[in-house]
Amino acid sequence: MALPGLVDLHTHLREPGREDAETIASGAAAAAVGGFTAVLAMANTNPVTDTAEAAERILDLGRATGLVDVVPVGAVTKGLAGEELAELGLMHRSRARTTFFSDDGKCVHNARVMRRALEYVRAFGGVVSQHAQDPHLAGPQACAHEGELSGRLGLPGWPGIAEESIVARDVMLARHIGSRVHVAHVSTAGTVEVVRWAKAQGIDVTAEVTPHHLVLTTDLLAGYDPTFKVNPPLRPQEDVDALRAALADGTIDAVATDHAPHARHDKEHAFVDAAFGMLGLETALSVVSDVMVRGGLLDWAGVARVMSQSPARIAGLAAHGSTLSVGDAAHLTLVDPAAEVTVDRGASLSLSRNNPWHGRTLQGAVHATVFGGRVTAQKGALA
Ligand SMILES: [Zn+2]
Repeated sequence: MALPGLVDLHTHLREPGREDAETIASGAAAAAVGGFTAVLAMANTNPVTDTAEAAERILDLGRATGLVDVVPVGAVTKGLAGEELAELGLMHRSRARTTFFSDDGKCVHNARVMRRALEYVRAFGGVVSQHAQDPHLAGPQACAHEGELSGRLGLPGWPGIAEESIVARDVMLARHIGSRVHVAHVSTAGTVEVVRWAKAQGIDVTAEVTPHHLVLTTDLLAGYDPTFKVNPPLRPQEDVDALRAALADGTIDAVATDHAPHARHDKEHAFVDAAFGMLGLETALSVVSDVMVRGGLLDWAGVARVMSQSPARIAGLAAHGSTLSVGDAAHLTLVDPAAEVTVDRGASLSLSRNNPWHGRTLQGAVHATVFGGRVTAQKGALA
């Protein structure tokens, strides 16, 4: 089966700054194997992607891979500090033509700063992707869904309201300004309610969910395995069910991986001290196939919508997510819907091994990826 090439709105590639965890080349290879033809590279590198030069450098390093379009995400604020706006206009006018901005990893929690960012990007049809986490309700130590289990495990709680209250504020700001806001990694049923309401009002809001929030639940934290430490945290089954339903009915527009590679020495710590994040690029299609298609919630046209067409539209990538015409340099993902894959973290092309799917058997696999008319990957390896 052929799908338009997959597009990931949320990838962390770690270059520049942490090339021991991932480089643009290794992340691009993992993306190609995972069926992706475009990935948006988050700005929380070191240095941060908050200038035109930094964005162009990511673009050029991505082009050099020849495996996937690496689209630099621009920071909303300088140094992700949440105070002064980054060079949004200069990034947009650069060769990178940035339209998608995010301080991901951090929340743009100051309402005045968020308002100014939304006003600024409106001028060129840009969008702000918000990592919704009120830092007063869920501080830097917060690492487990706040509930009975977090109390029993003695882990600092990360309550759903810390996400929901920011999303509620942001959709009202978007309405007030007439601008576009995108909600990164929706994790709770309450956020789904807010997004559903906002869309019904005609507010220009879009939302994404990660593969891990569609399947994994907070119970996995009982063993204190930092592989399952992620931000926002894994939630209870009621939230997981609401996220699946929202993806199926279009309230949530897209699946985005939040691929977050970490070196062993950053992940192998006591749970509270370990880094946040999980790998996701190589397993995303199989997870979505297994939970949504085998689960009867989406057909393959629906998968094309949530993993290619909608993310391409949200990011303004005209060359992606479209149907083929004669003479096009095709971006395609060929899928074997019946293939069973057992995930082996050792087989990854990522430089990191923080893979929460290790040992799981999933139905549906990427058979091959075609980027710009050339086969880039086949059966889990680069072509
Ligand atoms: Zn985030």
